[in-house]
Amino acid sequence: MEILSPTPDVLDRAATALRSGGVVVIPTETVYGLACNALDADAVRRVFAIKGRPANNPLIVHVASEAQARQVTSAWPESATVLAARFWPGPLTMVLPRAAVVPDVTAADLDTVAVRMPAHPVALELIRRAGVPLAAPSANPFMRLSPTRAEDVDPSIVSQVTMVLDGGPCDVGLESTVVDLSGTAPMVLRPGGIPRAALEAALVGPWITERTETVTRSPGMHPRHYAPRATIRLVASTPPGAAGLVFSAPANPQQIRMPSEPQAYGAMLYAALRRLDLLGVAEIFVVTPPSGDAWEAVHDRLRRASTALDAP
Ligand code: AMP
Ligand code: MG
Repeated sequence: MEILSPTPDVLDRAATALRSGGVVVIPTETVYGLACNALDADAVRRVFAIKGRPANNPLIVHVASEAQARQVTSAWPESATVLAARFWPGPLTMVLPRAAVVPDVTAADLDTVAVRMPAHPVALELIRRAGVPLAAPSANPFMRLSPTRAEDVDPSIVSQVTMVLDGGPCDVGLESTVVDLSGTAPMVLRPGGIPRAALEAALVGPWITERTETVTRSPGMHPRHYAPRATIRLVASTPPGAAGLVFSAPANPQQIRMPSEPQAYGAMLYAALRRLDLLGVAEIFVVTPPSGDAWEAVHDRLRRASTALDAP
């Protein structure tokens, strides 16, 4: 299997593979995705199998235009028009009523579908050339760190796909923000690349914030996710001899200095955890980042990375 530069020729080959049921690893601005035709149930089943992802965990359908998003949804509220105009292409996923053309397996049998227009030019161009929307969960084995560089895609995944398209390091580096627009009021189901405050500024009105509802409305959201092999410990300060992510000068070569700005921190978080994981350390001490809305997605991923495997 090959990691390829996305020349026009290679994009055409990838598009042909996708149209005929193949699976391709693609760059997006959030993380690398394991992509297939979202409307092809067999191809989608292969993506679940390659990742080892439970069938109750629905996939995000990636589109290249609002018109294509409307084709996979059966209703398009004004709120979707507003958020798409403001945040697409970009790391915002919207959950909307599902059109019949989307197979059950893609949406894990829900009557809704999650849809997003990615901002990466390679992803957009590939969707256009393929002519079909792409289901693309992160290109990692279930519960592991999502790859944010082509070379970070796990060999077990690389060996099972038609090709890996190298689009460089992901700008955002964390998964998309998922917003449910299928209920009586909008609700953030998963924090991500777009901060909550930006959403609330774009879409004025009541937002649902109760966590209990989030859990029932977002099946497949596992408390442990995005995790390295090492145990993550969130701390006020890292022991000098330990491996970790710090904000000040590293005390040893196994410490990585992280940016103090949330977007830059998020962009390098997975690659930094992966680097320490590859050293084979048993524990990674992470200096707790500041609180506040802009850090919500980083806190969410760190919390899930630090949750024990046997958590409920
Ligand atoms: P990812 O693992 O980054 O591919 O993100 C997929 C996540 O989006 C799932 O784990 C769900 O939590 C959420 N999601 C996808 N489709 C739906 C849906 N129809 N309703 C609610 N949440 C969804
Ligand atoms: Mg994922």
